[in-house]
Amino acid sequence: MLNPLPTGRPAPMIETVVVQPTPFCNINCRYCYLPDRNQKAQMELSVITTLFSKIFASGWAADQLTVIWHAGEPLVLPVSYYETAFQAIEALRPPEIVVRHAIQTNGMLLTPDWCALFKQWDVGVGVSIDGPQALHDANRVTRSGRGTFAQTIAGLRLLRRENVQFHVISVLSAESLQSPEAMLDFYLAEGVEDICFNVEESEGDHVSGLFAAADTPRRFREFLSRFWTLARQSGRVRFIREIDDMLERIFRPESCGMGNAQVEPFSMLNVGCDGSTSSFSPELLGLKNAAYNDFIVGNILTDSLEAMLAGEAMTAMTRDIAAGVEICRRSCEYFSVCGGGAPVNKLSENGGFSSGATSFCKLTEMIPADLALAAFDQLERTMGEQAPPTTDIAALAAAK
Ligand code: SF4
Repeated sequence: MLNPLPTGRPAPMIETVVVQPTPFCNINCRYCYLPDRNQKAQMELSVITTLFSKIFASGWAADQLTVIWHAGEPLVLPVSYYETAFQAIEALRPPEIVVRHAIQTNGMLLTPDWCALFKQWDVGVGVSIDGPQALHDANRVTRSGRGTFAQTIAGLRLLRRENVQFHVISVLSAESLQSPEAMLDFYLAEGVEDICFNVEESEGDHVSGLFAAADTPRRFREFLSRFWTLARQSGRVRFIREIDDMLERIFRPESCGMGNAQVEPFSMLNVGCDGSTSSFSPELLGLKNAAYNDFIVGNILTDSLEAMLAGEAMTAMTRDIAAGVEICRRSCEYFSVCGGGAPVNKLSENGGFSSGATSFCKLTEMIPADLALAAFDQLERTMGEQAPPTTDIAALAAAK
């Protein structure tokens, strides 16, 4: 039962906590937006215990709480750091709440000890790899500009040898958009079954030329359509986030509303290594903005969650993000599967939270929804009036 707020407003529900154990990253990808990736600070254990004590005491934690260790390269800290952190959180966890840890890594520092930790704690592992060597090394480079493919693929192969489940996130460049066959061949050769794509986007200081190009939506649509078809024909790809998440959102029971954690205060609670606390899109943490106090709503070491929720920065962001959601609700036919988009992209592309469509939502919401619905239409025509189960939509893509 969530504690009600004295204001009578509905209480937040914290579903995801994004923890930045360190802002430091051992590499320097050309499209990186993290402003503090040279800083070697690390989150003290006291920040972690204070954070989770306050979350669990608030009554605002969802029954299933996901903790994502990210926003820097988490594996630059030792395995023992996470053993201690996970044990501390476990000691504080109320029995009715399930906590699942997740780590997003460039994979270069993986060792058998990391694999043992992941298995022991059932950690969700995501590896950032951009496809075959030439595509990956074009952008994912060290500070001296050398490609990082060799170390990343060694890490990925280690995960497979050690039977650690993982997914990959691949950033798509102009070149990879032309190469769905080469991308798929790479995943199949490496036994990658769960795949997420990000089109290189403009965020923070990074301006993506791809986002600015007028024909990127068409090229992405062609890429995704072709990749989906080939992947299903292969029978060896279990999950394509852009398609499978969208199918779930389109074909959901009427009574299930469309939740969007990025537009609800504290649905995502994002904490920097010094305890500075933010919400909404995780990428906001670390960016500068005078109007919203650099998106910092307080510090978990000194402020209560209630005080942060009622504070000036949170109030201003909540108001403006809600205005942006309202614009989406009134103007966009994809609202029922999107729920109002990503505030960080509205801000960086449109200049404000209180705005509607972006290139980002065109790529991540509209095009996947169009592809899924086009497949459904074709399937309906093939089968007559009777609506098929969603699995048949995937089968149709394979048959096309
Ligand atoms: S698809 Fe874009 S315009 Fe439509 S609801 Fe989502 S964010 Fe808003």
